[in-house]
Amino acid sequence: MTSPTTKLVQSGIAWDPAYGAVVPPLYLSSTYVWPEADVASKGPYDYGRTNNPNRDLLANALAELDGGAGAVVTSSGMAAIDLVLNLLPSGAHVVAPHDCYGGTHRLLAARHDQGKIRCDFVDQGDLDIVRAIVTPGTDLVMVETPSNPLMRLTDVAAVCDLAREAGALSVVDNTFLTPLRQRPLELGSDMAVQSTTKYLNGHSDVVGGVVVAKTDALTERLAWWANAVGLTGSPFDAYQTLRGLRTLALRVNAAEDNAKAIVAFLRAHEAVTDVYYPDAGLATQQQSGPGAMLSFRVDGGADAAASVMKRIALFRLAASLGGVESLICQPATMTHRGMAPEARAAAGLDESLIRISTGIEAEDDLLDALEKSLASIRP
Ligand code: PLP
Repeated sequence: MTSPTTKLVQSGIAWDPAYGAVVPPLYLSSTYVWPEADVASKGPYDYGRTNNPNRDLLANALAELDGGAGAVVTSSGMAAIDLVLNLLPSGAHVVAPHDCYGGTHRLLAARHDQGKIRCDFVDQGDLDIVRAIVTPGTDLVMVETPSNPLMRLTDVAAVCDLAREAGALSVVDNTFLTPLRQRPLELGSDMAVQSTTKYLNGHSDVVGGVVVAKTDALTERLAWWANAVGLTGSPFDAYQTLRGLRTLALRVNAAEDNAKAIVAFLRAHEAVTDVYYPDAGLATQQQSGPGAMLSFRVDGGADAAASVMKRIALFRLAASLGGVESLICQPATMTHRGMAPEARAAAGLDESLIRISTGIEAEDDLLDALEKSLASIRP
């Protein structure tokens, strides 16, 4: 069987029907000529919101990577999540993690407040809680594991089983791990979403998303809504993301090696009180590696955390992840600021928590930068 690494490099290579270009050309045209004003006469492409060759090449590569029947490429990770919500009837019951990405929490809470869905945010790490809340009236169960930013784990297979028994759809946000480290569809999920802004593109120069579906029927419904609402991504972003995908395996391996080294360093450091990294228990069963995201707390609370982030070299203070460059952030005031304060508190997010997305720089340089900034909070 061809390995995912090879598929990522080869997908769409030498596809060009016009000139045999090895790298797929970029089709920016918003519209396409019809030979006649008769739908039977038109070619595969007619209007850019509906479909586009670059988006299709990326969708095929991502569907194959995840082992899905098809994929829909969207204009952002949030558009991918909203696309899934479009499948639901009005007033649908949605069960989501209480500690998901702040933007996801904000969207679900706002749709709930509008009366469009009924959303319960629960601790999905506790299967008894999930069992009690997912009932035959439930329409969608959303999972995000490891959770952002505390790396809490959810048993994907068990939660998707509960969703299926209740007749609900299931979707896993796999942005943190990518299909190279966790395979939601094989674990039983109906759909996997990712913010392609992160590891898949990997160079912090595209905002995009994808929903991969297990079946053709679900892919068709997603594509219908993406076209109807206009959630599809731009051709240029798809072109860039396919280019980024070529090196996904190399980047994920290098960033994960750096994360492991940083976690070992932080766990042994006297100024560090807690380190959150998914490298034990359930993670070893449902993931093929821990990934490159971690968070930690330092002795001295919020002030000490602020000092570490202010003084650190190399790690940029910015609210994203999954790029080649290392980033550091304070989730409570940055990535998760869109959540209501009570929801943040319920999820265990306070200003003493620091999140890191490790890049692919040399390990020694990253360790040196951390060592120096942690020394700054010690007399
Ligand atoms: N899901 C997760 C886990 C994220 O971290 C993010 C963004 O940080 C998103 C979804 C949303 O993605 P985007 O910013 O591409 O809309």
